[in-house]
Amino acid sequence: MAEETIFSKIIRKEIPADVVYQDELVTAFRDINPRAPSHILIIPNKLIPTVNDVNDEDEALMGRMFVVARKLAKEEGIAEDGYRLIVNCNSHGGQEVYHIHMHLLGGRPLGPMLMS
Ligand code: 5GP
Repeated sequence: MAEETIFSKIIRKEIPADVVYQDELVTAFRDINPRAPSHILIIPNKLIPTVNDVNDEDEALMGRMFVVARKLAKEEGIAEDGYRLIVNCNSHGGQEVYHIHMHLLGGRPLGPMLMS
């Protein structure tokens, strides 16, 4: 059984966060340390630590994360100019919180995909 992170507490509203969307499958909230004018994290309500832990039965859930990203990008007014979706995995990917999450970033040109 994977260990819960602070994101589980955000889902259950046990600690404050700027939640912009929640349904039976996913929750989305603003990143506490935004790297762009719009920086939202979209996460499954179910704890899946990393992309390595995604199972076949999670297909609909993963799809829902993209559908919510599309909806929120429109609401944020960044859909036309464009945005970036990032999912970091493990140490080389730069993952800090082990509850899988999709970063939705936009509101300015985001530069090259990687630093190097
Ligand atoms: P990672 O590096 O794991 O892909 O990204 C984790 C993200 O979670 C970071 O961008 C970080 O700022 C954000 N984050 C970490 N703790 C909290 C928190 O307690 N609240 C919110 N809203 N964001 C958090």
